[in-house]
Amino acid sequence: MTAYYLTTPIFYVNAQPHMGHAYSTVVADAVCRYQRLLGKDVRFQTGTDEHGDKIVHAAADAEVSVKEYVDKISAMFKAAWPPLAIVPDTFVRTTDPAHMGVVQGVLQQVYDQGDIYFSEYTGLYCKGCEQFLTEKELVDGKCPDHLTEPDQISEQNYFFRMSKYQEWLIDHISKNPEFITPERYRNEVLSFLKEPLEDLCISRPTTRLTWGIPLPFDSRFVTYVWFDALINYLSGLGYPAGQDFSRYWPVAEHVIAKDILKPHAIYWPTMLKAMGIEPYKRLHVHGYWNMNETKMSKSLGNVVRPGELVTEFGADSVRYFLLREMSFGLDAGFSKEALMARHNSDLTNDLGNLFSRSLTMVKNFAASCVPQPGTPSDQDRELAEAALAMLGHYREHLDHFAFHRALAAVWEVISRANKYIVSTQPWELVKDPQQAAQLGTVLYTLLETLRLITLVLHPIMPETAAKMAEALGVTDENNLSDCGTWGRLVPGSAITHGAQLFPRLQQETKDKPQPQKNKAKKEPSTGKASAAETAPEEEGLVTFDAFQNLELRVAEIVAAEKIAKSDRLLKLTVKAPEERTIVAGIAQHYQPEELVGRQVIIVANLKPAKLMGVASHGMVLAAKDGDRLVLSALSGPVAPGSRVA
Ligand SMILES: [Zn+2]
Repeated sequence: MTAYYLTTPIFYVNAQPHMGHAYSTVVADAVCRYQRLLGKDVRFQTGTDEHGDKIVHAAADAEVSVKEYVDKISAMFKAAWPPLAIVPDTFVRTTDPAHMGVVQGVLQQVYDQGDIYFSEYTGLYCKGCEQFLTEKELVDGKCPDHLTEPDQISEQNYFFRMSKYQEWLIDHISKNPEFITPERYRNEVLSFLKEPLEDLCISRPTTRLTWGIPLPFDSRFVTYVWFDALINYLSGLGYPAGQDFSRYWPVAEHVIAKDILKPHAIYWPTMLKAMGIEPYKRLHVHGYWNMNETKMSKSLGNVVRPGELVTEFGADSVRYFLLREMSFGLDAGFSKEALMARHNSDLTNDLGNLFSRSLTMVKNFAASCVPQPGTPSDQDRELAEAALAMLGHYREHLDHFAFHRALAAVWEVISRANKYIVSTQPWELVKDPQQAAQLGTVLYTLLETLRLITLVLHPIMPETAAKMAEALGVTDENNLSDCGTWGRLVPGSAITHGAQLFPRLQQETKDKPQPQKNKAKKEPSTGKASAAETAPEEEGLVTFDAFQNLELRVAEIVAAEKIAKSDRLLKLTVKAPEERTIVAGIAQHYQPEELVGRQVIIVANLKPAKLMGVASHGMVLAAKDGDRLVLSALSGPVAPGSRVA
């Protein structure tokens, strides 16, 4: 059996689990489940990073011993994953004696061969990052991640001869296009490597910090956090002697967020090279979840707790949203409204309805049994072919961590199947005994399509897929190649009409301001709601706050197509910066092909609406000039997603 090894970062225990952690770990869990579906022998590792002065400070603030503190937060991380249906195989803690022993062994080896030396270092040190920053990395003299000024520090320390491996690393990245993905991060690293690489400071004097792994060759120092943390990827496999190491390390892949790109793309491969170990196979780098344009972080106080979301929406809905909404590598906006919209539209309406309508028809028209299919018509064949083609697209996208594309491919089949029900009208076929064979074909085609959808949803929404599999009587299907063929359902076998997959959720209204009633207005309504209805003395004016509530963003049109049966509407796919669909009433003014590549201004937080059956997430701004409609534009190119204010 082919092996597969995937890790999340080990998370730093100075804060509780948040959405960023949950995203990395959901991604890793989904990929590991997918690799198992391909028949591989998978090892999935996560854990916690527990050394460093930030931890000491956090423990002091909490008035507990450092050990108590790390035990408590590490346990919170461990407990955060089962509710999200995340099932790691190993959970490494850097305070585990086994891990500490491996780190000391590596340090001694690299020291003995002369790649660690003693020297003096002066630099700008950010306490938040626990690292020295270069002038270049500062923004207005401050650490861009922590928005604080770094301190000038000078001290004696040990250094890893990282510069020695710079040429090798450039060469390795150049020869292995998938070593760092997506490509933008590979380019970022290569561009960083154009400058001479400095050696890496790998120690802290015990006068300043004792909460760390002692250097085996000088007890006056403890190990600097990266030379400790990164080695978890080996220690979790029982390196150097363990069989797991020889089995899984050659196929190792890491998932990280972009803030730790440099340690993973530069420090880690050079460390491995110095140790005489082959580098990992692929590094997968994702972006941030933004709330109100800022990175989610504890210090900024805009943290969403994954546990709260699971309680409100259910694990599968949260997993689906995270994987569908973000295009891996880019930043994406997070809001409960968007999660609610996806839940109600994609899950309840599209998937939930398809499942319950199909099974209800099988129950009512075929006595809850898989019917015998007759000769398929073109329409039946088309749906079957689309479902089979989807399997290929799904695999290709998941192999490259393009979760949003993989899911878009699945949902296209779901949408086709819903349309197929409308056009084949099984409720009419059942009235005519002459059409019994045709009815059998239609229901069989729907059930097979659902079976294939169930198969590919296992990695994404494990609980939902399990429910679907049970209703279809295919709980033993666990291999994409074996089960990804048409016609495995056996006519006559029982179908159980399962429970509703996703309850429809209502938007909470308690936080919303009540619309102000205006008694003064008496004249009959013109039919158009007027903004002036709220404040007669400031007719036509809105407050700055009201304006701020409107989220205007720059969007780049990446695809445009006509909507069938509408001569007014176009379906646009835009990047803002996440990909979204917007339906725009501009078909009489623009041809789809002239729109691709254009940048426009959109209202990004408009409540989603369905137009001609297509869910629209936002509105494109355009000017009306008589009969003409002219799209908004920018006077120069701008990064998609930039806020307009
Ligand atoms: Zn910092």
